[in-house]
Amino acid sequence: MSAAEPLEAAQSVPAGGINLADFCRLTGINANLAMMNTPESPSARRQRSRQQLLEVIRRENGVTRADLSLITGLSRSAVAEAVQDLMNERLIAEDVLSGGRGVGRGRPSALLVATGGDGHVVGIDFDHERVTVAVAQVDGQIRAEEHAAVNVDSEAAAALDVAAGMVHRLLGQTGLSLGEIRAVAAGVPAPLDIKTSRIHQASVLSGWVGLDPARELADRLGRPVVIGNDADLGAAGELRFGVAKGARDFIYVKASEGIGAGLVLGGSVYRGAAGAAGEIGHTRLGEQGAWCRCGNRGCLETVVSSTLVRQLMREIGLPAGRDEIFPLAEVALHPVIGRFIAEAGRTLGRVLADLSNCLNPGLIVLGGELGTAGEALADGVRESINRYAQPAIATAVEVKLAALGLRSELLGAIGLAGQHALLEI
Ligand SMILES: [Zn+2]
Repeated sequence: MSAAEPLEAAQSVPAGGINLADFCRLTGINANLAMMNTPESPSARRQRSRQQLLEVIRRENGVTRADLSLITGLSRSAVAEAVQDLMNERLIAEDVLSGGRGVGRGRPSALLVATGGDGHVVGIDFDHERVTVAVAQVDGQIRAEEHAAVNVDSEAAAALDVAAGMVHRLLGQTGLSLGEIRAVAAGVPAPLDIKTSRIHQASVLSGWVGLDPARELADRLGRPVVIGNDADLGAAGELRFGVAKGARDFIYVKASEGIGAGLVLGGSVYRGAAGAAGEIGHTRLGEQGAWCRCGNRGCLETVVSSTLVRQLMREIGLPAGRDEIFPLAEVALHPVIGRFIAEAGRTLGRVLADLSNCLNPGLIVLGGELGTAGEALADGVRESINRYAQPAIATAVEVKLAALGLRSELLGAIGLAGQHALLEI
């Protein structure tokens, strides 16, 4: 019997349905196998469809009912029914500001966006020298936020303790209890092993090697915690709340003490085989450059970083505390610092031109501390991309500054927490 025969038999089934025994007789499929493939119960199917739709609505950041049907393969009536339920529960809404769009032809229909429902989440951003914590509503609205200076890189336990203490303090301020927090998410400035979520690059964040940050935080908070790489979360933050709304192929660059990229390809964050994709700070610019913390010489980070801006400011007698230098746009008006920022932009742009030749992004978002330098940095990046990327690739890519400033990663963490809260419904 050829493989096509059962299908042909099945296609001859009369309209109006068929019982299981007749189906097996006509198709030659073993009855036990057919039983294994018996459709799940209607309520289980509705629950699965609902989860699937919520995931797509969150991921697409604005999608029509027709798009949902195309993407999920669910029937239009099943989509309409589930969408109405989700709207009744205030988990999604029609985005009246967008004006609508659709993947098909004809009149654009309303875009559906996730609203997050009720409840609160916690987002934590571990930067190299500072921890920021916020309590927010599931839809991303921040209720309270606080930051503290800590040597995050080398004092992991202290940084985790400080973060946990801040969570408790912010909950006190907002009158919430930990039990009312539906999810906690945190970003760390290091590659995370894709299988274990542990930090696995000894050279980059020495104090955290082998640590399981999610477990450590969960132990301190008594709540489950999801963890992400900071640049990936920065990309997610700008995608959901910032300049990358609706972008499907873009690069987010976190340029602070170190430089990392969050890669969004085809609408999803790309983490690579080991979870370490986007470590552009360790792109080598030459054989004879300064030594880098990764053990190589001449890495991008050794010539472009906010640490170097601070160092230069001190050398020319300018105060270089955090309050004095951020946002960098004002400091960049100084002729010496301005030249450094412009050159930093061109050097960063050289690396981003090569990356663009590989990935053909539609957008590059410049975030992190250097991202606060304004157009001086962005102009340098554009100059190098126009000079070194293939013309068609250079034409396709827009370069923008992060809309969320130093909070892209924090808002990405809040978004991630909100996403987990939604998936648990
Ligand atoms: Zn390096």
